[in-house]
Amino acid sequence: MEMILEEILIYGGGLLLCVLVMFLYVKTKSKKSEIVERKIEKAKEDGVYEPVSLYPFIDPNSCIGGAACVSACPEKDIIGVVNGKGVLINASNCVGHGACFHACPVEAISLKIGTEKRGVDLPHVNQNFETNIKGIFIAGELGGMGLIKNSVEQGKQAINNINEIIDKNHTASHDIVIIGAGPAGISASLQAKKIGLKFLTLEQDSLGGTVFNFPRAKVVMTSPMELPGHGKVKLFETSKTELLDLWRTVIAENEIKINENTKVSEIKKEGNNFVVVSENGEYFSTNKVLLAIGRRGSPRKLNAKGEELEKVAYRLLEPELISKKQILVVGGGDSAIENALLLAPENNVTLSYRSENFNRLKPKNLEKIKEAIDQNLIRMEFNSVVSTITEHEVVLTKNEEELRFENDLVYIFAGGELPTQFLKKSGIEITQRFGYTVKSHNH
Ligand SMILES: Cc1cc2nc3c(=O)[nH]c(=O)nc-3n(C[C@H](O)[C@H](O)[C@H](O)COP(=O)(O)OP(=O)(O)OC[C@H]3O[C@@H](n4cnc5c(N)ncnc54)[C@H](O)[C@@H]3O)c2cc1C
Repeated sequence: MEMILEEILIYGGGLLLCVLVMFLYVKTKSKKSEIVERKIEKAKEDGVYEPVSLYPFIDPNSCIGGAACVSACPEKDIIGVVNGKGVLINASNCVGHGACFHACPVEAISLKIGTEKRGVDLPHVNQNFETNIKGIFIAGELGGMGLIKNSVEQGKQAINNINEIIDKNHTASHDIVIIGAGPAGISASLQAKKIGLKFLTLEQDSLGGTVFNFPRAKVVMTSPMELPGHGKVKLFETSKTELLDLWRTVIAENEIKINENTKVSEIKKEGNNFVVVSENGEYFSTNKVLLAIGRRGSPRKLNAKGEELEKVAYRLLEPELISKKQILVVGGGDSAIENALLLAPENNVTLSYRSENFNRLKPKNLEKIKEAIDQNLIRMEFNSVVSTITEHEVVLTKNEEELRFENDLVYIFAGGELPTQFLKKSGIEITQRFGYTVKSHNH
């Protein structure tokens, strides 16, 4: 009898312990789910819930909620787990490096572009990366495939395809003009050099493309990349500086010149060749064209007097190195506000916006900018436009009056011109895709 009692106590105790552990486990899980659900609500309020470009699509039927994707993602709160299933949180902050896609042990993640609600413009390309305009090719993120490694691979492959069909007797100055010097354009230039093509690379900004503008130092590469003329690069977690240095070194070693600060504005067909026209009024004749211009477009200019001065910029790099300066920030969107707020603590910042109030800001930014203006951390000039920029001054026009400010630096965030218009002008067909799968484990 005593033994039975003892057994009941032992087994009963064990069972109770199991139930308690289960209870605590379920409770912790549901608490974690609640936290993620609150983050989703907040993301919806802040307007960052809907993906804007490439993003992970999680199949709820395959997902086992192991959260490997959550830990693999170097961005914060793009994916979370609710009730044992992966869900999107701040999806519009996803930069599409696909670490989650590779980390998922049950292949429940695919990478998509566009959602049912929000379409994304993608140009038509065939399996050789050629567009509907014979002789114009596309490589890299513009064609819908994100990630540094993929762009590098496509840049190389596109050049090989082009090499096979180049008109050996053409009369143009170049076999190929490569437009853009991001990962795709760099790799294409290296491959063109390797196989002896007569090529020219034109870049509106500076070498490195989107990587040059990353707001964070860390770069993730999910698998090694093969750089033509250099070999395999096994950098899985690297820094932006290391990657840019590597590209600069390889480009220099291969004696390639990238024509920076040369924005291409038009591609014209001329007989069997093309003429590539730059914004600076230069013309380059070529037999083939490779567009490696990414998807981020070009910053919109104000066309103000003095805008070409070196102190004028369209992006803010390393704000921590800027202090005690008289700064004009132009724009009223989230980028202008976020950058003005970054600069304000250490500098004297004036914000110029052409409208009479902010009307398209994320709620959090609106709250922060109002607070900064109230505390005189930022001087706000609504209804103003920049008329002249000189070495030490800026002149704004506001209600037909002139406002003059001492000035060291100007940052313009007037939005971007998407590459869509440029492509259409060159005759390239574009389709809006809603939930187009770029990469899945079945492909
Ligand atoms: C914040 C952020 C973080 C990311 N992190 C990672 C990561 O960790 N790992 C990863 O693999 N991927 C990452 N990505 C994605 C990766 O950066 C892109 O997939 C990749 O840069 C695409 O390469 P690309 O050469 O096709 O285009 P881009 O890098 O965008 O380069 C295009 C180039 O073309 C130029 N250009 C555009 N229009 C013109 C024109 N008209 N005339 C002349 N030049 C022009 C641009 O100035 C630019 O230099 C990240 C993206 C972002 C935004």
